[in-house]
Amino acid sequence: MEVFASFQGEGLYAGEPQVFVRLRGCPLRCPWCDTPGSWHVQPDAEARISAAATRRVPTRATPFQVACWVAEVEQGAPRTISVTGGEPLMWPEFIRGLSSMVGSRRLHLETAGAHPRSLARVIDAVDHTSLDLKLPAEMGEVQELPGPGFEPSPRDAAEWRAARRACLELVAGRDACAKLIVAAGREHGAYEELLADLARLAPRLPLFLQPVTPVGPVGAAPLELVRALAEDALDLGLRVRVLPQMHRVLGVP
Ligand code: SF4
Repeated sequence: MEVFASFQGEGLYAGEPQVFVRLRGCPLRCPWCDTPGSWHVQPDAEARISAAATRRVPTRATPFQVACWVAEVEQGAPRTISVTGGEPLMWPEFIRGLSSMVGSRRLHLETAGAHPRSLARVIDAVDHTSLDLKLPAEMGEVQELPGPGFEPSPRDAAEWRAARRACLELVAGRDACAKLIVAAGREHGAYEELLADLARLAPRLPLFLQPVTPVGPVGAAPLELVRALAEDALDLGLRVRVLPQMHRVLGVP
């Protein structure tokens, strides 16, 4: 969908200058999603390459082509590449291909943590994984991408639980972090199972509580809720930090 240079706004590497490779396609429907334009894969869509002059190119590209665009937009020393979306785990073979094309650059993955089989395909090909923890009750209806070969997405609480636990087991002990988006209208007890899973399966994983950037009907998280969640996480022995989206603060993409 796009290749551009900016500052990482979330998680363990917030503030780091990175190149972002945003892949089209996401079957999930998070209510706070700020990139709904990434949900669909239209063969005739174009990708935006934000180099010295922004230009548009056909959206289908090989890992080699994307690696060339990365070198074009970073305009200087090689940067870490953040593969984001959409849900990048729709394209595990592309991610593996890209990892072999980027030289000494680090490859970071940002994922919803809903597709453990695909995560297992790429976990050794990436240098860092940022895993969103989703509250099943607030996820909208899954809209699977058309076509064969995509790993099915979780559709109910039990499937979300299984996917979350499998993903946490995959990233435990690696260079990784977990993010929990916190929005208005939630009770802090609703997060109990997520935090317990994290404490049990990946207790050393840094946890970022990310107060939602209000979008559409999704309102800002009350500070009391953020405080309560931070206390819960501390009580479980988790390494918790509170961090709003820094790229929004800076006003950059
Ligand atoms: S997983 Fe990401 S791209 Fe997909 S709906 Fe959620 S926030 Fe949007």
